[in-house]
Order: sequence, then C-alpha cells, then structure tokens
Amino acid sequence: MPNRRLLLDRLRQAVASSTRTERHGALLFLDLDNFKALNDTLGHDIGDLLLQQVAQRLVGCVREGDTVARLGGDEFVLMLEDLSENSQEAATQTESVGEKILAVLNQPYQLDAQRYHNTPSIGVTLFVDHDGSVDELMKRADMAMYQAKAAGRNTLRFFDPVMQAEVTTRVALEADLREAVLKGQFVLHYQAQVAGDGRLTGAEALLRWNHPQRGLVSPMEFIPLAEETGLILPMGLWVLQTACAQLAAWAARPDMAHLSIAVNVSACQLHHVDFVAQVLAVLDSTGARPHHLKLELTESLLVKDVEGVIAKMTALKARGVGFSLDDFGTGYSSLSYLKRLPLDQLKIDQGFVKNILTDSNDAAIAKMVVALAESLGLAVIAEGVERQEQSDYLALQGCHAYQGYLFGRPLPIEAFDPGTVSA
Ligand code: C2E
Ligand code: MG
Ligand code: MG
Repeated sequence: MPNRRLLLDRLRQAVASSTRTERHGALLFLDLDNFKALNDTLGHDIGDLLLQQVAQRLVGCVREGDTVARLGGDEFVLMLEDLSENSQEAATQTESVGEKILAVLNQPYQLDAQRYHNTPSIGVTLFVDHDGSVDELMKRADMAMYQAKAAGRNTLRFFDPVMQAEVTTRVALEADLREAVLKGQFVLHYQAQVAGDGRLTGAEALLRWNHPQRGLVSPMEFIPLAEETGLILPMGLWVLQTACAQLAAWAARPDMAHLSIAVNVSACQLHHVDFVAQVLAVLDSTGARPHHLKLELTESLLVKDVEGVIAKMTALKARGVGFSLDDFGTGYSSLSYLKRLPLDQLKIDQGFVKNILTDSNDAAIAKMVVALAESLGLAVIAEGVERQEQSDYLALQGCHAYQGYLFGRPLPIEAFDPGTVSA
C-alpha cells in the first residue's frame, strides 16, 4: 500500500490533472475509532490483522485509478479522482463513497478467534484547480476528520471554507479568552428584578467581557466556549466573588440591604466536586448573607447525575442559598425531578414572554409555568419583559415578579447603583 511520500506524489499529480480537466478530486482522511484500545487489550498482532482487513475493504470501495494509502498507525487516506466538474455533484459523489466505506467498515471483523466490531471517522476535502497546496489539502482533510470525531465518531465530515473560518475564529477566541481570565478583562452588569408594584427586589448579575479590541463581548459568544474549555470554572468563581462582594457592600446600606443577586451557574461548575465548598468559601470571605444569593441553574444541568445535583443544592440551601431555574420551559425537565429539586423559583423563559400577547401557545406555556410554580410552592419570575402589556398579562396569570428592558437594561454597577463608592 502506498506510504505518505508516494501519496503526496500522487496528490500533486492529481491536483495538476484536475487543473487541466477542471474535474474535482477528493481527499478522504480516515481514522479508526478506538484502535488503541484494541491494540492495548488484544495485542499488536491482532491490531495488525485489523489493519490488513481494513485496507482490503477500502480497496474494494474505490475505482481502479483511485489511491488508498496508509499514513501510519490507524490512519488511512483515500484519493478520488475524475469527479464531477460541478462541486455540488463532486461532493455528492464523494459522500456516497464515504457512506459506502462507513457501511463496509462497520461490518464485523474476524480477527483470529475474535469477532470484532470497529468504526471509522472520516474527514473529506474536495480539490479542483489548484485551490490549495498539497500540504494544505492534507491539513483540511485532517481537520475535517477531527470534526467527525467530535461529532461522535463513526461518521463523515466535509471541510469547507465556512468550517475553516469557524475553526480559525474559535482558536483565536479561545486564546483571547485564556488571556482575559489572566488579565481580568471581565465586568459584571446588573439587571433589575422587580415586584408587581415596581419595587426593586434585586438584580441578575450578567457577565460581560471587556475586550481591548473587540469591545464589550456578549456572553452568548463566549460562555459556550468557556464551558467547553473549562475556563468557565475560574470565570464563574470570579462572578460569584464579585456578586458576593457587592451583596456585602449593599448589606451595609439601608437603602440597598434588602436586595438579592442572582448568579448564573453553568452545568460544569455545579458538577465540579468543589462547587459547594467554593460557594461557601466565597460567602465566608466576602461576608455576603447567603439568603440574598440566588443561583440560577438551567434544565441542562439535570441531564447528568441528578442525585449529585440534588445533594449539592440541598447542602447550599441548608446555608440559606436560593435557587432559580432559568429559561424554564425550553428544556426537558421531567416533572418528577422538578418536584425533588430544592428550588425556590422558576424563571419563565424570555422566548415565551416575547410572544405572549400574540402566540396562544406561548401564552399557554407561560400560564402553565405559573400554575406549576404555584402547585410546587415555588415563586415565579418572568424574564425579557419589554412592554407594559406583557407585564399586565403576566400579572393577570398570577406572575408578579419581572425582569426585562421595561424595568431596566443590564447596567454597570455605577449606573445600576449610583450610590456605589468606587474603590
Ligand atoms: P440569561 O441568564 O437567561 O439572561 C437573560 C438574558 O436576557 C441576558 O442576556 C439579558 O441581557 C437579556 N435580557 C434581559 N432583559 C431583556 C429584554 O427585555 N429583552 C431581551 N431581548 N433580552 C433581555 P445576556 O446578558 O446576553 O446573557 C445571555 C446568557 O449568558 C444568560 O442568559 C446566561 O445564560 C449567560 N450568562 C450571563 N452571565 C453569565 C455568568 O456569569 N455565568 C454563566 N455561566 N452564564 C452567564
Ligand atoms: Mg439567568
Ligand atoms: Mg434566562
């Protein structure tokens, strides 16, 4: 089977000929899922048997002129030539070869006395007319293969410029985010929470990233990445510390002492072993009163280790910390879990509030959340309230706590609380 050098040679020729014929070619990077585990458990001889059989099957999937090469380890590369001039069609042709490979490699293997099942992950890039160097093409197919792995393996992914752009942005954002954590580029904004009579009862703390070039970056843009990379842990701790320090400062001010602060908590924070200890340590070190701290959880938290979550909530609740279920209605909480969680409040998702006056389904859901809260003995608050009519309608349904632009936008602390003495 051709090795890397021979493959690169053939790829160079293929690119040249595609430039002449204007026909597409395709490069497929293929990696066997869990091959290392097989090698480690059954030994290298069995591993080699698998590689031989994979190679045979791959050769059976392509046409005469196509190339099947082994890069080393469990990595194979296939090169298809003379595909359509039309890139959509070429993609479809490649896709069908890819699907065939997936099907064939999913068939059980007989390795000595062992019957064995294995799957591949495949990355694909098309080429035509010199649109990239040979190295560049190899890199693209390799990147697409990692996308296939990330998508859960046993699947095929295409590389395309949109994907490239996504990858590049992500890498840059991640580097920036790491720096932001080190340099402390975050700020908290506070958004008013009010009671039915308009009285201020507290605020939700909302994270902002004050980036030197990008400006103020929305959490929608960086929280998901922070969660994926684990950076949410130091960031979340900073949010908690800042909010608790604010609570402590308010406690000393008769006009502000009654206010609570709601802090958003990501699933990975709560699932972290030290979470309870960290929250308690922050309460201690800042002197914040636990009854004024409300942690906002989302339903996605309940996908995993519900028992553990309940235990942690119960431990914090014993110290007075409150819990609100954010974005309620958008997830898939089982009602039986809901009953067992030591919650204090449900937060009607802004998506339902938005169309509450025009969409009868959304209105019905909002109404149902209010009724559910009532029957579970929980408070309820609506978020994203922008218009008086929405607030009036919610009041009619029995919801008497609100948050939204109607009452105030998220503001830096100096604007939210003009009485703030800056450090
Ligand atoms: P969320 O917790 O559901 O926060 C409510 C979002 O709705 C906020 O967006 C807020 O600015 C926005 N909002 C408030 N009132 C209105 C309104 O009347 N109309 C409209 N259209 N929007 C309104 P933001 O600040 O961009 O935060 C987005 C999400 O980012 C938050 O959703 C929360 O899930 C997450 N997030 C924010 N801060 C933190 C944090 O410190 N930690 C974690 N883990 N997540 C955070
Ligand atoms: Mg929230
Ligand atoms: Mg929300």
